[in-house]
Amino acid sequence: MKEQILYYSTNGRAPQVSFREALFRGLAPDGGLYMPSRLPAVSESFLESLRSKTYPGLAAEIMGLLLQDEIDKADLADLCYDVYNFAIPVERIDENNYILKLDEGPTASFKDFAALLMGRLMQHFLRKEDRYMTILTATSGDTGGAVANAFAGLQNIRVVILFPAEEVTPVQRKQMTTLHSNVQAIAVNGKFDDCQALVKKAFMESSLEPLNLSSANSINIGRLLPQSVYYFWAWSRITLKPENRIIFSVPSGNLGNLTGGLIAREMGLPVIRFIVSTNSNNEVPEYLRNGTYSPVNPSINNISSAMNVGHPSNLSRVIALFGGEMDENGIITKSPDLEKMRQVLSGISVSDELTAETIRLMSRKYSVILEPHGAVAWHGLKQFLRENPDFDNRNIFRVAIETAHPGKFREELEKILGMPLPLPDSLAKIEGGREEYISLENDFETFRKYLINTH
Ligand SMILES: *Cc1c(COP(=O)(O)O)cnc(C)c1O
Repeated sequence: MKEQILYYSTNGRAPQVSFREALFRGLAPDGGLYMPSRLPAVSESFLESLRSKTYPGLAAEIMGLLLQDEIDKADLADLCYDVYNFAIPVERIDENNYILKLDEGPTASFKDFAALLMGRLMQHFLRKEDRYMTILTATSGDTGGAVANAFAGLQNIRVVILFPAEEVTPVQRKQMTTLHSNVQAIAVNGKFDDCQALVKKAFMESSLEPLNLSSANSINIGRLLPQSVYYFWAWSRITLKPENRIIFSVPSGNLGNLTGGLIAREMGLPVIRFIVSTNSNNEVPEYLRNGTYSPVNPSINNISSAMNVGHPSNLSRVIALFGGEMDENGIITKSPDLEKMRQVLSGISVSDELTAETIRLMSRKYSVILEPHGAVAWHGLKQFLRENPDFDNRNIFRVAIETAHPGKFREELEKILGMPLPLPDSLAKIEGGREEYISLENDFETFRKYLINTH
């Protein structure tokens, strides 16, 4: 039996736990986030073997390394084949520059990758115990739909989703509010950061313990690990030989996507740079530049609305991966190795004007329709290559990640491009659905009572 991988809290004041326990706890008891205490290393021949695998086959390999004996290998493979039944294209745009399209899942968002597998993993463990659980999650738009879809219809699980009333698109809202059954959606009169704060507080609240709360937003380790898989996938599809290196431009908000990539790199995937592409909420690029972290408060509204994050919840994990410590209030209590961080991460902030310009350019030049988040990533990549011409060579493959389907941002894109766009099938389906949700003030006591009364 291989030695189990235990999970530590980024706050450093909670005992280490198994994956299964970290999955159900969500947040560690000291308010920190769980991280693997060590990572399995992949060999060159293992990486080469990935080239011939399908996505679910590759996912079962990578997740199997991370989860080791906590789940039977055949069960894990079944879960992966069950959920990853859609296309995951890596499209070449020009030279060595590609777009990884993570937008073909059931809710047309990259958050499907993590939410689907996490839902199945939770159900797998819960089935053995006949336990009841409430999943609590805050969303800036796309998480909610992905989580709601991943959990809708599952037994023994109620899902409560908080979203900022004025900051999600109608399509995003409908993805959360048309499922009914075990999924409850709440429109909060506030911003995404307020929703996130309500969720965090609920986890610390002792009167809510009987509800057996668990999280499904990007703070859950079960959301994080499946996001390492597609980095291996992209590498295995486009590079040609072991010496090839890869760069990813990651459109970033709460940094869950980026953290997944950093984990893949720690395991041995030859990533030589991540470009942290943000919108005008530029706290991470600024931190990388000047070494001082200051959240953007309140967060700024951008057309790439899922990245309107002024203080990324996974920043403490990124800092932990570089040897530092950041507490739940965003205070850095131990400095990470900033020099090392700068060798791995480059931050680029992209304005709405540049985002729209990129969308128009991609349509005109390549007939490629990008939505705002993917456009931020693409612009980030191009700007990085202009500023760092050394990385513009044949042995380095570059990938910008497209995180949502353009159909999800149809109104905005039609305005920018001045032409009509079709809806993807998954979204057309919910257009006429009956919506059901409640509205709450941004007030913890009201929220607490709601949770107890509807339990
Ligand atoms: C959530 C989301 C992001 C940001 O991902 P993080 O993991 O929070 O950094 C980017 N694009 C889209 C479309 C999203 O839904």
